[in-house]
Amino acid sequence: RSLVTAAADGEDRAVEAALRPRDLDEFIGQERVREQLSLVLQAAKRRAATPDHVLLSGPPGLGKTTLSMIIAAEMGAPIRITSGPAIQHAGDLAAILSSLTEGEVLFLDEIHRMSRPAEEMLYMAMEDFRVDVVVGKGPGATAIPLELPPFTLVGATTRAGLLPPPLRDRFGFTGHMEFYAPSELERVIHRSARLLDVDIDAAGAAEIAGRSRGTPRIANRLLRRVRDYAQVRHDGEVTRDIAAAALDVYEVDARGLDRLDRAVLHALLKLFGGGPVGLSTLAVAVGEESETVEEVAEPFLVREGLLARTPRGRIATAAAWQHLGLTPPPQSPV
Ligand code: ATP
Repeated sequence: RSLVTAAADGEDRAVEAALRPRDLDEFIGQERVREQLSLVLQAAKRRAATPDHVLLSGPPGLGKTTLSMIIAAEMGAPIRITSGPAIQHAGDLAAILSSLTEGEVLFLDEIHRMSRPAEEMLYMAMEDFRVDVVVGKGPGATAIPLELPPFTLVGATTRAGLLPPPLRDRFGFTGHMEFYAPSELERVIHRSARLLDVDIDAAGAAEIAGRSRGTPRIANRLLRRVRDYAQVRHDGEVTRDIAAAALDVYEVDARGLDRLDRAVLHALLKLFGGGPVGLSTLAVAVGEESETVEEVAEPFLVREGLLARTPRGRIATAAAWQHLGLTPPPQSPV
């Protein structure tokens, strides 16, 4: 299990709950989304109305769940949390919708993975606050209309483009979440350290931030592993050297690459002279499935400008040679 690429597990979830900012002022970074959302919420409050439906798009771990909870908290409303994959049948969604109270926030994570019939039911619920519950089967089936109280749907998706346009159009506001700048991650780390009672200096926080891939969830996760190391091997205080040594143990390098990322780059450079090389050949060379290389390692390598996907195959950039401390052959594509 990689410290930087693994999805959130039970330990993460438990700590995350304790580390979540509770209101918009406490929420670090994402200035644009924060300002936009703040206007939407303030206006709704003034009109004593339920805010428009909100779509949040962006990679995992950037704070979509946190923002949905903040929306509910700012409105003084309860929140219900579910996800697209958890809603297999339209009936599952009908059960949730029909039990919402007035003004409640419904957070639907991975909304792009909802089943088609559920999606169609959601259109009507979002627009008219109504659902048709189908009772019975075959020719005797009847649709019973059911009024819903006004509610705010907060949908989360990794990419807004994954949503069918009719669904996307029913959101009054879409917030695009961006990766966090290192200085913002440093603030996240200092804040978490305070809450977890970890003694950390500025350079220590900067070291962890630089390895966190622009993602608060990863920053918090790395901070916990660094804390373990500082407590077991030292007196608990986190400095730059201690953070770096701890994360070296966990094979998260100075730029946030993990073992697999480095193995992919290493194979690309050493075995294939920097490419171009086909995905499956590259995957065999590192002993992984093609999908793992493509979906787990490559997105970050591409984002970091270390690897490029071309029609002829994968190629390494000049930055990749530099990062691994290798010299490119004279004719290598850069
Ligand atoms: P996923 O979609 O994978 O569930 P997410 O985008 O919903 O991820 P969250 O669960 O909201 O992410 O956030 C992950 C962790 O990062 C939480 O512990 C949260 O406290 C922290 N976090 C996220 N954004 C911020 C922020 N802006 N300031 C401080 N902490 C943050």
